[in-house]
Amino acid sequence: MTTASASRSGSPPAARSPSLRISRALFDEMVAHARADAPNECCGMVAARDGVATGVHRTRNIHRSPLRFEMDPDEQLKVFQAIEDAGYELGAIYHSHTRSAPIPSQTDVNLAKWWPEPLWVIVGLDNDEPDVRAWRIVDGTVSEAALEVEDGAPVDA
Ligand SMILES: [Zn+2]
Repeated sequence: MTTASASRSGSPPAARSPSLRISRALFDEMVAHARADAPNECCGMVAARDGVATGVHRTRNIHRSPLRFEMDPDEQLKVFQAIEDAGYELGAIYHSHTRSAPIPSQTDVNLAKWWPEPLWVIVGLDNDEPDVRAWRIVDGTVSEAALEVEDGAPVDA
């Protein structure tokens, strides 16, 4: 079972933004997590409000594998609950591809049937520079989504 469906209280899910805007700091947090767990895949959740990321939450990959991920169920539930309690939505599930391009694998597509609403963000570490891409995966259909990284406005000196 998925915690995502458990959160629905009879009403249709709110329309989700087709894109995700994320601050440089939160973007860097995802990349740092991916690098910390490499060569294994990392995974976690991105909280959002109105298509803007509000937080990055690491979860443990119970497989500790460079080829696949599955979020620790207890952490997954805890984080998801915290996101909902804060009034945010699950904007994205992120994980890393340490040896391949950041394109959803068939395993990812299969897993995504439990999570059709959030975007799927994949941090690719196959090259020197991380390549981060976002995807929407609904009913087995994969389409790329916009991931807009915003450099924070400098604070007035
Ligand atoms: Zn993957």
